[in-house]
Amino acid sequence: MLVVAALSLLAQLATPRAHFRIVSDFAEPERAAEASQAAEAVVPVVLARLGRGGWTPRSLETIRLYRGYATFRARTAEFNPNAPEVLGFTHRDSRTSHVAAEPWNDALHALGLPRATRRLVAHEAAHLVCYDLLRDMDELPAWMVEGLADSAAQEALVQLGLADALEVDPATASRIAWVQEFARTGRLPSFDALVNDRLGDYAYLERYPLRWLAYEFLRAEQPGACAQLFAAAYDDGRTGAPRRVRAALEPLWSAAEREALDARLRAWLAEFHPRWRPCAGLLEGRAQGYLSLADASGDALALSTTTLATLPVRLSGALSILPGTNTQLHVVLGHTRESFLEVAFTAGVGVTVWRYDCGAERWSLKGSAPALELVTEREFTFQIEADADELEVWLAGKSVLRVPLHGDSPLGTWGLGAQASAGGCWSDIEVASGR
Ligand SMILES: [Zn+2]
Repeated sequence: MLVVAALSLLAQLATPRAHFRIVSDFAEPERAAEASQAAEAVVPVVLARLGRGGWTPRSLETIRLYRGYATFRARTAEFNPNAPEVLGFTHRDSRTSHVAAEPWNDALHALGLPRATRRLVAHEAAHLVCYDLLRDMDELPAWMVEGLADSAAQEALVQLGLADALEVDPATASRIAWVQEFARTGRLPSFDALVNDRLGDYAYLERYPLRWLAYEFLRAEQPGACAQLFAAAYDDGRTGAPRRVRAALEPLWSAAEREALDARLRAWLAEFHPRWRPCAGLLEGRAQGYLSLADASGDALALSTTTLATLPVRLSGALSILPGTNTQLHVVLGHTRESFLEVAFTAGVGVTVWRYDCGAERWSLKGSAPALELVTEREFTFQIEADADELEVWLAGKSVLRVPLHGDSPLGTWGLGAQASAGGCWSDIEVASGR
């Protein structure tokens, strides 16, 4: 009897009680389970960052998962009227996070929630933990709020095998590239502006990668100071944190030290070599490659930071198109601010090569070929090869299309994307240039 009791106690210890109740719009229980997994995974990460041993919520914490942005917005706008661009937020007093699975495509049932949605669930769950520990948490400098939540969500996803290293994962690589672009164009805030969260000159969504990297920088380069500020914020008082943090911040660095940290921040940032830069829609890692996903508002495109420098260029791999209203994946070559070449694979139709002029917003057809064997939910190998004169496309090992380029260059930046409302998976992507 005693043995049985001891064993059942062990079982309870081995399966800790869930901290969050998931209320999901999705009929299938797997979506709620995926959200729950991401939320629970972030708890120990946040506690470790705050130097805490454990956490028992004071009362029920809820995460509401919505199927798509439209439903999310319709049902939550009253709580969050000023930030229509976000896909998730946490409402302190009702102890509830709201997260939209967006883009969502019903064909994702087999693949599960996009990693971006799970990342957002983990981010909002981190806020729920912090609010429960500190009622005026959101009055802290925002790198201590949003930076911490982004960083902890990334670590939780890595632990779950759902995110790659910072420079490799499109989600984090593109944010690093975004902030590096600020540095290149003279828009990087000073260290002082970042730690004091003076980011009024930045668009709402620009502030997030800045706050995330400000926190990562402090954690990596000033760990003692970083820990001191969080300790000041999360001491035993549940309120008064902004004042305590201000008092701790003031004497932390002299003017000369702040200036030196400014230079160090730039150097630290330049040491990253992100593989992707932000464009539109979603590109995210999958077990064997990537998932491209576009919402209804426009095409998805992610651009690689590696460029194709010499002719001929080759891009090959395998693709699998998701079923839906639109069923088209894109490979983009020769991407500049002015124009690019697009090789479009459309299920049930075939392969089309376009040139797009960004200024005139004009698509010019360069050639197309039917490929009725190209269907959704099946993997096809493909290869694109181009020299100065001609671009050739192979599908399932067979040459299906050759188009003259008439001076359009395939050199430079390449990318992967999907038509609005479409999506699909890429695997074994390889690029090469030169003979
Ligand atoms: Zn947040």
